[in-house]
Amino acid sequence: MRIIGDIRKMQSCCAELKKEGLSVGFVPTMGALHEGHLSLVRRSKKDNDITCVSIFVNPIQFGPAEDFNTYPRPARRDRMLCQKEKVDLLFMPRPDRMYGPGFRTHVEVEALSDVLCGATRQGHFRGVATVVAKLFNIIQPDRAYFGQKDFQQTVVLKRMAADLNFPVEIKVLPTVRETRGLAMSSRNAYLSAQEHSQALAISRALFRARQMARGGVRDAARLIREMKRIIGQDRAVRIEYLKIVDADTLSPVKRAQRGTTAVVAARVGATRLIDNIVF
Ligand code: AMP
Repeated sequence: MRIIGDIRKMQSCCAELKKEGLSVGFVPTMGALHEGHLSLVRRSKKDNDITCVSIFVNPIQFGPAEDFNTYPRPARRDRMLCQKEKVDLLFMPRPDRMYGPGFRTHVEVEALSDVLCGATRQGHFRGVATVVAKLFNIIQPDRAYFGQKDFQQTVVLKRMAADLNFPVEIKVLPTVRETRGLAMSSRNAYLSAQEHSQALAISRALFRARQMARGGVRDAARLIREMKRIIGQDRAVRIEYLKIVDADTLSPVKRAQRGTTAVVAARVGATRLIDNIVF
């Protein structure tokens, strides 16, 4: 595995691989890798000649009151995990190089960035779209892999790639969960043992809604009521939003149908968690 920190070196290395006719799969991450990230890596290994992972805690997608400084950065462990998965290229750029003093250009995906998580995390998706656009330009991947776990992110990035004509195929892979259902996330490390158990109400509610939908209940209001009831059983879990939305427009729907998605953001203690399920 080659580890590269320098942007120009990464760019020329990837260009060289493409010149040789090799296909490049790309998995962007912020590190603190877990099985969710590794599922993307394994899929990329299957689909492509070369797999490139980036680890970059992107400062411009964090709000001023958010956890940029405390975000876990187990660099040694991450490097070892990538090595074990036989990642070909590990890109770890420095924040001051990604955003030099003259940096002025951002990518804004309108409307889709302002709802759901975007309503409370202002500027978050602008930061995400900007860094992913930069990474696409540096790496020029044939395919890029994202997790359904960050559903809104996948919608925003698919829109960006289409609108800006990035010649990359966006692949979205299923959410990897812990055995008791909680969606894996680097931020789960913030949860105490008690909060971890309390957080299980989120996935329990989503599974229940899917089961009801499969049983023929299509009324979104009713499904939402039931999910709120389940999550509300534990007062420690505070819902930020809970909606059933169209998977392309993110607009709330009245009736759940194939492809519509139930999305939730909730706080357990000080930790903000998101999850979703596709009907
Ligand atoms: P992050 O490091 O949190 O920015 O995540 C990097 C990529 O891994 C994103 O595409 C995430 O959606 C994806 N990811 C994070 N958690 C999971 C999970 N539990 N299952 C599948 N993919 C995930």
